[in-house]
Amino acid sequence: MKDTINIFWFRRDLRLDDNAGLYHALKSGLPVLCLFIFDPAILNKLEDKDDARVTFIYDTIAQLKNELEGHNSSLLVLYDNVVDAWKKVINTYAINSVYTNHDYEPYAQTRDEAVEKLLSHHSIGFKTYKDQVIFEKGEVVKDDGKPYTVFTPYKRKWMEKLKPFYFKAYPTKPYLKNLYAIKHLPTLLLKDMGFEKSEQYIPPKIYKDIIDDYAGKRDYPAIKGTSHIGIHLRFGTVSIRKLAADAYAAPEKTWLSELIWREFYMMILHHFPQTTDHAFKPEYDRIKWINNEQQFKAWCDGKTGFPLVDAGMRELNATGFMHNRVRMLTASFLAKHLLIDWRWGERYFARKLLDYEMASNVGGWQWAAGSGTDAAPYFRIFSPDAQLKKFDPEFKYIKQWVPEYADFSKYPKPIVDHVMARNRCLKVFKAALNQ
Ligand code: FAD
Repeated sequence: MKDTINIFWFRRDLRLDDNAGLYHALKSGLPVLCLFIFDPAILNKLEDKDDARVTFIYDTIAQLKNELEGHNSSLLVLYDNVVDAWKKVINTYAINSVYTNHDYEPYAQTRDEAVEKLLSHHSIGFKTYKDQVIFEKGEVVKDDGKPYTVFTPYKRKWMEKLKPFYFKAYPTKPYLKNLYAIKHLPTLLLKDMGFEKSEQYIPPKIYKDIIDDYAGKRDYPAIKGTSHIGIHLRFGTVSIRKLAADAYAAPEKTWLSELIWREFYMMILHHFPQTTDHAFKPEYDRIKWINNEQQFKAWCDGKTGFPLVDAGMRELNATGFMHNRVRMLTASFLAKHLLIDWRWGERYFARKLLDYEMASNVGGWQWAAGSGTDAAPYFRIFSPDAQLKKFDPEFKYIKQWVPEYADFSKYPKPIVDHVMARNRCLKVFKAALNQ
């Protein structure tokens, strides 16, 4: 007779401490076995076999397995189509319920529906919890129940709704004794999944040092004025409750605002899932993009001849990070100066960013292209030179990433003329929007 157990399924919440779903599983009265599934439907889409995010997940999973083994349990790690993986788990263990945390992206929702259906067919419960945000889905909406589509009133309501309760941690430590006692389970190798180890540097989960000076420093790419904590928020190696509580407690609240932007875009993606591929403002889908592949390549490689754009793209290619100011400029430059479809740029960022988050990436790109919520109006077009003077006046950032800038004979000539590109953009956007 098999022991009846509950399962906790890790996804974007890769930590034992302050984990809502894990906490509820551990308090469920049955022993808990933890599970992680490497999903080929996600992995096979990644172009780079040394993708740094896969190594990061892999290493984090190995660490979690170690920690769980320190508690007389282990971590079941599978590499399989998710529904097939679950069929195997169901065949191997006697399961009462599966616990997990909400995942809001469209693919994750379809996946979870399929898993829930399979589990229910076997009379297994599927219990899911909010963990990666303070407020989710329809929790912060207008008085008439409709979603906000503008950030400032959303933020106001978010702040109004906030109670200390929402920052309360889910302390799992006292309940780890309820983990299912099991000997070490097998380990997977990265190469079994067709991946290689990446040597990419992963920023640490440090953020407190930047909060107080954030408003004054966050706009200058040459200084480390922002946290670089995005990858940890993406994969849940930090708790949003802890971060938001610290941000709220600080006298300077700008950093808290950024965390609210993250939730705003997640809420938008939940209510408007079509925006991953379609303009939030549908008339923007009429824009006649030029989509010049050579210019796209120059942009990707950081060889446009516009130094701040090039520095940003080179920083991205080398480190998997790009400063927010420069993300705004490079994205706007691609969509407006080059008239290349924002979806091309969104996909390139998705490939390269360590902190890639579908909701924020789509939100940021649509903002830059003028088609999104709160978007920069189409006729406001960043001048790369003016941006450079304002945000990197001593050329420190440029010198770091575009060393040949100092020698005009070595640095590429601009691939477009700023004034021509500006006028062309106005004409093309106007023609599409006035139809
Ligand atoms: P900090 O400035 O220290 O902020 C802390 C956290 O708050 C960030 O890690 C992030 O989770 C959140 N945050 C900050 N600014 C924003 C914002 N404007 N929108 C949403 N969340 C925010 N952010 C992503 O997390 N993933 C993306 O894929 C992404 N793509 C972007 C694409 C474009 C075109 C633009 C303009 C912005 C994008 N952003 C994205 C938002 C922002 O640029 C990054 O969150 C920020 O630069 C990450 O640096 P940091 O971790 O040092 O953030």
